[in-house]
Amino acid sequence: MSELAYKRTNVYEVADEKLMKEIFDYAEGYKTFIDEGKTEREACAYAVAMAKKHGYVPFEFGKKLKAGDKVYYDNRGKNLYLIKIGKGDVKKDGIRIIASHIDSPRLDLKQVPFYESDGVAFAKTHYYGGIRKYQWATIPLALHGTIALADGSTIDVKIGEDENDPVFCISDLLPHLAAKQNVKPLGEAIGGEDLNIWLGNIPFVAAENEKDKTVKENLLKILHEKYGVKEADFLCAELSLVPTYKAKDVGLDRGLIGAYGHDDRVCSYPAFTALFDEESDDKTVMVILADKEEIGSEGNTGMQCALFTDLIDEIAASFGTTSGAIRAKSMCLSADVNAGYDPNYPEVCEKMNSAYLSHGAGITKFTGARGKSGSNDANAEFVGYLRKLFDENGVIWQTGEMGKVDVGGGGTVAKYIANMNVDTIDIGVPVISMHSPFEVISKADLYENYLAFRAFIK
Ligand code: MN
Ligand code: MN
Repeated sequence: MSELAYKRTNVYEVADEKLMKEIFDYAEGYKTFIDEGKTEREACAYAVAMAKKHGYVPFEFGKKLKAGDKVYYDNRGKNLYLIKIGKGDVKKDGIRIIASHIDSPRLDLKQVPFYESDGVAFAKTHYYGGIRKYQWATIPLALHGTIALADGSTIDVKIGEDENDPVFCISDLLPHLAAKQNVKPLGEAIGGEDLNIWLGNIPFVAAENEKDKTVKENLLKILHEKYGVKEADFLCAELSLVPTYKAKDVGLDRGLIGAYGHDDRVCSYPAFTALFDEESDDKTVMVILADKEEIGSEGNTGMQCALFTDLIDEIAASFGTTSGAIRAKSMCLSADVNAGYDPNYPEVCEKMNSAYLSHGAGITKFTGARGKSGSNDANAEFVGYLRKLFDENGVIWQTGEMGKVDVGGGGTVAKYIANMNVDTIDIGVPVISMHSPFEVISKADLYENYLAFRAFIK
């Protein structure tokens, strides 16, 4: 190939012994993070604890910020803003923003979840985000979340993660009796109201009333004994079913990681670790771990919330300028996963414009669907700026679209930030089996994203 032509770089092909060690060591820290942060609340708490260790203190509205300040804003325990005020001129340079999200597709318990049918106790769920429903049957599930009690206190629930915990599951038909289900379209084989969780099978035989000798009553008794809660308390709860298993290396060479919830904790982790590890103190940096990306970035913990601009207002006020002036000079990496090229399903991807596993951080200039609709489509000049920055800093990167034209599409938080007059582009880790209970990523891409974020905020 001539030196005029472009070719992607396989990280593992060019990595020396030192880089290989860095890639593999870094992956271990990430695995701990996703095992401990399976919901946005848990991921947020993990990052807050790390932030405190690195000297970050709670942000206070109205309190003037100054160079060297390190603050965090924990938004309702589900959305985190980490802000480091640089020694450089924020009026001239704006803010370097890295925006990732920490919510992942899952099954949420309904508000009135429990019922009994033919001697089995179940819980009703309402799925969250874009899932392929059939993938969630016959896998072990754990229950994570928070219950707000009538007295104003809250309790955190986590059942199914400890080695000795029971787990939960959704049943599916046996092949012997599945002839009719087998000929349904894949998307209809298991419906939304079929995602019912098996909770118990032993009736409350000690009940005084005959009518209370039910499995559901026994279940309520167990919940009351363990957590002191009644059925009505679940009206005020956020409880989710997520896969129980831990992150694992995939493949004999251990180059990949399989886990639940890579999307998008695989970009969140490099975002906040880059911030904590980067010692240069010139730039003002904001790292965002957003919630609700998987359902449109809505609500007061999602990226469309005014909190984003409110915090920039506070930075602006501290330095005698306006939010608009700062945003005009700011840049944002929308750190989100993209679709990795899967040789098992080549028909959905266009080979030249796909992100390949182990070929580095994946830049997605535009997302969207049907002619880029719903995409911010980053400016060429901004892509050019990043190209120079990454190349100068030895970051291995590639570009990739989400699939062939008109095959599908997707969106990220990028457009909401770009709409605020900030140069924004999507960059992230290519994922295989995205939104499934067991997504796969490359350790090399995880690390190259970390290096990219380091270079961006340096
Ligand atoms: Mn995502
Ligand atoms: Mn997603």
